[in-house]
This record gives sequence, C-alpha cells and structure tokens, in this order.
Amino acid sequence: MPNRFAQGKKAFGFCSICGQRADLSKLKPQIIKQKVTNSLRCSECLDEDQPQLMLGTFPIDDPQALRNPRPDPALAASRQIPDNGKTLSDLFIPPLE
Ligand SMILES: [Zn+2]
Repeated sequence: MPNRFAQGKKAFGFCSICGQRADLSKLKPQIIKQKVTNSLRCSECLDEDQPQLMLGTFPIDDPQALRNPRPDPALAASRQIPDNGKTLSDLFIPPLE
C-alpha cells in the first residue's frame, strides 16, 4: 500500500509556541494527560506531560480509616501530670483572656 504522505526529509515547520523554524522531523507533538494534541513544538517549548494532571486517571485505593479500632484507653491518663492534675495542653497553650 503506497504511503499518501511524502517523507519530508528536508521539510521544515514552525513551532506552535515560539514560531521558530525547525526541521519538521524535530518538532514534537505536545502531550497533555497522555493525549497527543495538534500542537507541534520545538525542543525548548515542549513540556513534559505533568503527572499531577493525571489525577483520577488511575484507580488508587488508599483507605485511612480502620475497621473496629481500639484506641488507647489510658491516653487521657497518660497526659495528666501527677503533681497538679493539669494536662500538657494546659501548660503549653495560654488561657484565653
Ligand atoms: Zn518553540
């Protein structure tokens, strides 16, 4: 099957961003969210595909809550200072005036 397009070994094009002339084979398409756009860019204007734009693309299962947790029952007692009965937050957080 014959190719409908010429090879374009000596063809040149212009960057879609800066407009500089470059070999057509050196202009690369800009990829955004893993999709090729119609923008051909020179090496200086070509941006890497930003991984932060791919949020929601891949399923991520990272639950934070625990089923049937068992908190420390002595937590409140461990934060008491035996001398005067004040808690640590009483010592370090100034009272409201
Ligand atoms: Zn450019």
